[in-house]
Amino acid sequence: PDQILLFCRPGFEPDLAAELTDRLHAEFLAEGEGASVEPLMEEGLVRVSMDGEHPANDLHRRLRLDELVFARQSLLALPELSLSRDDRLSPIFEQLKACGWSFESIWQETPDTNEAKALSSLLKALERPLNSQLKKRGALRRKAGGRRLHLVWRDGDRVQLAMSFPGNRSEFPGGIRRLRFPHAAPSRSTLKLEEAWHEFVPRDEWDERLGEGMQAADLGAAPGGWTWQLVQRGMQVYAIDNGPMDKALMASGMVEHLREDGFVWEPPMRLDWLVCDIVDKPSRVITMMERWLLQRWCREAVFNLKLPMKKRWEEVSLCLSGLASRLQEAGVRAEIRCRHLYHDREEVTVHVRLD
Ligand code: SAM
Repeated sequence: PDQILLFCRPGFEPDLAAELTDRLHAEFLAEGEGASVEPLMEEGLVRVSMDGEHPANDLHRRLRLDELVFARQSLLALPELSLSRDDRLSPIFEQLKACGWSFESIWQETPDTNEAKALSSLLKALERPLNSQLKKRGALRRKAGGRRLHLVWRDGDRVQLAMSFPGNRSEFPGGIRRLRFPHAAPSRSTLKLEEAWHEFVPRDEWDERLGEGMQAADLGAAPGGWTWQLVQRGMQVYAIDNGPMDKALMASGMVEHLREDGFVWEPPMRLDWLVCDIVDKPSRVITMMERWLLQRWCREAVFNLKLPMKKRWEEVSLCLSGLASRLQEAGVRAEIRCRHLYHDREEVTVHVRLD
C-alpha cells in the first residue's frame, strides 16, 4: 500500500494535516473509504495513507498541489525503509525493483530542518552509486514521462522513496522557491510579493498582467518592499501607510504616498492591482478585500492573512469560503487561490483575479 507524502514548513504539520483531513472528507473519499493523515511533527512532512488495501495513486492525481494551501510538495510514496549503515543501497534497489518504477531523474531530499541538512555529505556520497546502479537496472532512463524519483531522508537510517509527476508537483528541491534578495529593495518582505507572482501568474502572462503603465495600490506599504516590486514592473502606485516610505523608491516618481487608513481609503479610479500586507485580523482584511472586489476597484489582488493563532487552517478556510460565497452571491466571478509561500512565515498569501 502506497502513501502520499507532502512537504510543508516545519511547524505547520498540524495545519497541513487539518487541511488534508477536511478536504479528503469533503471532496475525495467515497462512501466507506477512509484515509489516515499523519503529521511528522517539526519535520515538515505529512503522510496520507488510504485505509485497507487501496492504492493512493488515484487520490494523489486528483489532489492538486496548487489547490492546497500548506503543502510545498506532493509525492506518491512507498513505505519508509529502515536501513543499516553498512548497506544502505540494497534495500532501496529492492524496493524499486518490486514496484517497477522508472523515472528520468533522481532527487535526494531532506526535511527543511537544520538536523536534516547535516545529512548532505552522506547524500552526496550516495549520489553516484545510486545513479549508475539505477541506470544499469533500467529504472533511470531517458523517456519516463518526466517522472522523478525522490529519496526523502529523515535521517541517515530512514529513507522514503517517492515519485513526482509533471503538472502536479513543485519543480524546486524541497518545494522551496528560493529568490535572490534584490539589494535595492527597501525590505526583505519584497520577496513575498515576488514569490506570489511566480506562484500565481504564469511567466508568459507577466507582460500582459504585470505590465508597464498599470496602476496599483499597496495598503500597508511602508517601507516599500511590495511597492518596489510594482514599480520594477513599471506600475504607478498609491502607497497607503502612516509610516515613512523609502526615499530612493519615492524618488522614482512612480509612487504617491498617502498617510491614510488602508481599511477605509478608496481609489480615485479603477486599478489593475491591489496588494496588501497590513498586519491585522484575517477577518478584517477579508472584509476590506470583499469591498474592493465587489466594487471592482481592482482586477487582481494579492494579500496576506496573518495567522498568529493555533488553528491556522480553520481560520484560512473560514476566510476563503466566506470570500468565495459572498462574491458568488453578488454574481462576481473570481478565481481565488491561496498558498503558504516559502517567504511567508505565520501568514498565507491569497491571490484573487476577477473575470
Ligand atoms: N509590505 C511592506 C514592505 O514590503 O515593505 C511591509 C508592510 S508591514 C508588514 C505592515 C505595514 O502596515 C506597516 O508599515 C504599518 O504601518 C501598516 N499599517 C498597519 N495598519 C494600517 C492601516 N490601517 N492602514 C495602512 N497601513 C497600515
